[in-house]
Amino acid sequence: MPANLKPAASRQPKPATQLNHLQSDKAFRLLVEGIQDYAVFLLDKDGFITSWNPGAQRIKQYAPDEITGKHFSVFYTEPDRSARNPWRQLEVAAETGRYQEENWRLRKDGSRFWADVVITAVRDKDGNLMGFGQITRDLTERREAETRYRLLIEAVTDYAIYSLDPKGIITSWNTGAERIKGYTTDEILGRHFSTFYTPEDAAAGMPAYVLRQAAENGHYEGEGWRVRKDGTRFWSSVVVTAIRDEAGELVGFSKITRDVSDRKKLLDTIQQHAEELELRVAEREQTNAELEAFSYSVSHDLRSPLRAIEGFADIIATDYGNQLPEPVQAYLNQISNATRRMNRLVQDLLEYSRLSRIELKPTATDVEAIIEDARQQIEEPLREHVKLDVQAGLQAFVHAPTLTQIVYNLINNGLKFYPAGKQPQVEVSARRGEGTVRIVVSDHGIGIPVEHHERIFQVFERLHSATKYPGTGIGLAIVKRGISRMGGTVSLKSEPGNGSTFTLEVPAVG
Ligand code: ADP
Repeated sequence: MPANLKPAASRQPKPATQLNHLQSDKAFRLLVEGIQDYAVFLLDKDGFITSWNPGAQRIKQYAPDEITGKHFSVFYTEPDRSARNPWRQLEVAAETGRYQEENWRLRKDGSRFWADVVITAVRDKDGNLMGFGQITRDLTERREAETRYRLLIEAVTDYAIYSLDPKGIITSWNTGAERIKGYTTDEILGRHFSTFYTPEDAAAGMPAYVLRQAAENGHYEGEGWRVRKDGTRFWSSVVVTAIRDEAGELVGFSKITRDVSDRKKLLDTIQQHAEELELRVAEREQTNAELEAFSYSVSHDLRSPLRAIEGFADIIATDYGNQLPEPVQAYLNQISNATRRMNRLVQDLLEYSRLSRIELKPTATDVEAIIEDARQQIEEPLREHVKLDVQAGLQAFVHAPTLTQIVYNLINNGLKFYPAGKQPQVEVSARRGEGTVRIVVSDHGIGIPVEHHERIFQVFERLHSATKYPGTGIGLAIVKRGISRMGGTVSLKSEPGNGSTFTLEVPAVG
């Protein structure tokens, strides 16, 4: 049998358990030696230091040989030592197995650090106390950050910032909370936050709802009435945030409340004004509708007497014209002109009021045909002064007769408002816009001052006398009403002496 295949039993090994103990002791010592962030050291039964790791040296500044054999009470502040706290804590650890606290401790140079200390009793297998193990962590930085944060929150005065436990009991309170809600910290800690709700909201279960929402979604945001200590109400804007520990367990809520009563008052006032305005607009619309109905019936009724005057004036002119003296012929002529003007006015008024009464059913319409139609209605020789530039195949979704009337009115104005003796010139173009067809009617005439751009779209608003430029003042009102009833818009660019450009946008097909 080769030597290396000898049965293991024939060797002389150390007992397996003893080997493991030794190895694990060594491993443990190496582990403790490697720890930098914690002071890990041992005390004998009376509190004298027997071992010291590099973490302890880093935190407390003593080298191992400086501190070994010294009593661990050197780490305590004078008041702690006078109160015999080091000895008392060893007693507790010996009795209960463990003592833990967060408190001030001293470094070798006398400076303080905030320590998290755990003292554990070490016993042999028979239960006899051998000494104590101590683990200390330096939490000074964390404590400073927490203090800074707490002071910051406490100093905030514009916001009430406070925390709740998972059931809604108040656990912290800042200056802002005191200012806004009127309770001092002592008065409010330990009370339920539903104290701030109105009786109606509390009865409706709002506080529980708010916490449930925050727990489920992480956040709750809302606005509502809250009650101050003195019973007065304020309008608050609230954010509630659920706070969870690393394991995801709900540990409470933070609550930030702002008094936004001023904003609420402002909004309420604006709302009230808006309602009043709406009421007035409705009243005005009602009055307008009544006026329109009135003017419609008057215009309608004027038609037959007008026809009679026109008819009889015609008969007199045709049958007796030659026999009449010169001045009477002239008067008759004036009667005819006046009735023609009145006819025009009546027709325009009827057309205008018809536009708001009838249904303008839109259909897919060829834009080029509409513009050509409108141009044809202009009498020769003026028609020659209208130039068209229309993209072929344009289709708009409009009421064709109304759009024709609108384009006609704009062309007609463009040819009319020219300085005496100058040749009028009107261009009509049409292009595809974004979802719209854009029709532009422009002239090189007298132009319109900017301050009148809105006014001229209203009924009877004219900028000139009828003798200088004849008209009824209804043409643009028809344009405006017709175009908006078809879901389109009209806009104007113009200034005196530089002509005018009216742009229509109507819904395109496709
Ligand atoms: P009307 O042409 O019958 O006077 P409108 O309602 O069409 O009535 O126009 C109202 C007023 O707007 C006109 O009296 C005129 O003062 C001004 N206006 C309209 N179109 C033009 C234009 N193309 N150039 C200059 N002024 C215009």
